[in-house]
Amino acid sequence: MSHTVEILSVGTELLLGNIANTDAQMLSQGLSELGLNVFWHTVVGDNPQRAREAVALAKQRADIIITTGGLGPTCDDLTKNVLAEAFGKELVFDEGSAQRIRSYFQRIGRPMTDNNLQQAMLPEGCTILENDWGTAPGCAFEAEGVHVIMLPGPPSECRPMFHYRATPYLLSLSEGVIASHTIKLFGIGESSMEAQLRDQMNAMTNPTLAPYAKEGECELRVTAKAPTDEEAQALLKPTVEQIKQLFGDKVYGVDVPCLEYVVLEGLKAKGLTLGCAESCTGGLIAKRLTDVPGASQVFKGGIVSYTNEIKAGLLGVPQETLDRFGAVSKEVAAAMAEGARRVLSCDVALSSTGVAGPDRDDRCNEVGTMFVAIATPQGTHVRPLHLGNRPMRERLRTQTASHAFDLARRYLSGLDYGA
Ligand code: ATP
Ligand code: MG
Repeated sequence: MSHTVEILSVGTELLLGNIANTDAQMLSQGLSELGLNVFWHTVVGDNPQRAREAVALAKQRADIIITTGGLGPTCDDLTKNVLAEAFGKELVFDEGSAQRIRSYFQRIGRPMTDNNLQQAMLPEGCTILENDWGTAPGCAFEAEGVHVIMLPGPPSECRPMFHYRATPYLLSLSEGVIASHTIKLFGIGESSMEAQLRDQMNAMTNPTLAPYAKEGECELRVTAKAPTDEEAQALLKPTVEQIKQLFGDKVYGVDVPCLEYVVLEGLKAKGLTLGCAESCTGGLIAKRLTDVPGASQVFKGGIVSYTNEIKAGLLGVPQETLDRFGAVSKEVAAAMAEGARRVLSCDVALSSTGVAGPDRDDRCNEVGTMFVAIATPQGTHVRPLHLGNRPMRERLRTQTASHAFDLARRYLSGLDYGA
């Protein structure tokens, strides 16, 4: 049977807009990775009557209810009372949890007020989810065919409690294992990816296919469930292969963290070094490369050549090229990459130049007009970009850096540079 999940977040501060419901976002991501269907997010304030109504509705329609917040020691912390009552359970004092709360206060060197022991009152017969990241324990129980899991509200507690306590509980509900692979794509929009897969996605049950998009990149997660990992992998393999075939060289990796990681691994495998010269990305290419541990093995450094003075003086971009074509041009992008390759003595160099906005540049280039280039021992290639349909400085810079990485990973895999 496939489970349906409702996330019930308790907290008036969520309704007032004081904080965003990041717990629900984190849980939804984690639950979909476990192959569980989250069908509802509900937010209710610290109000017993409305919380009761929310729980009554949730238990009718979901078979897993996960609550966040309201487990603490203050009188507005009502989650356990409401859930226990809804399922006809008493709250009982748990000495083990009380001990843990006392020793938590000892450890942080603060006196414990008595109301803290309120947190050791838990629904009878529940599985206690020990909280090593705060005081309020979580808990889980099954009643009336519904699984209830309660997690604390502070994200620094909710996240590890989900990962280390709720996940094993949830996995124990399903027989067999859930395995997944993530296929990463660059150079295709989410809508066009979905359009090519829609019929297939709707028809699939095991494995399932879920698309995600972020900052100009797309990913597809294929998830399968089977009695053993081996059988799950056997279910996954043909789908992964089929998707790789379908999207060809737009697939830059399977189960890899990011484009820049793939670039660095490619360089390591070939024993090549990399450098960069950046204008519009202002150091983002270097930053993203150095976010990956071990980048120093292949990444030599970068120059932020923001002004023409640095482009000409340091990188040796000919003044005449700058005057004739302007800083935002394919000629300058090429000369920057070649200059970086020479100045930084590296095998491969990347460059970026463009108009990140919000205004056009002095030559009236539109916002989002970008050029990225790659210089290698085999020659130089420039990719012009028009990213201006939704101009937002941060997004333009991120996408421009990604396009530079795309040139590098294509070079390293022996692919053509593409559009
Ligand atoms: P505590 O023991 O701290 O009282 P609790 O489980 O009772 O924890 P709440 O009192 O509901 O949780 O919330 C504590 C804090 O956690 C809130 O002030 C808020 O900063 C954060 N928080 C609560 N719910 C969420 C949520 N859904 N998403 C993000 N942050 C949250
Ligand atoms: Mg609280």
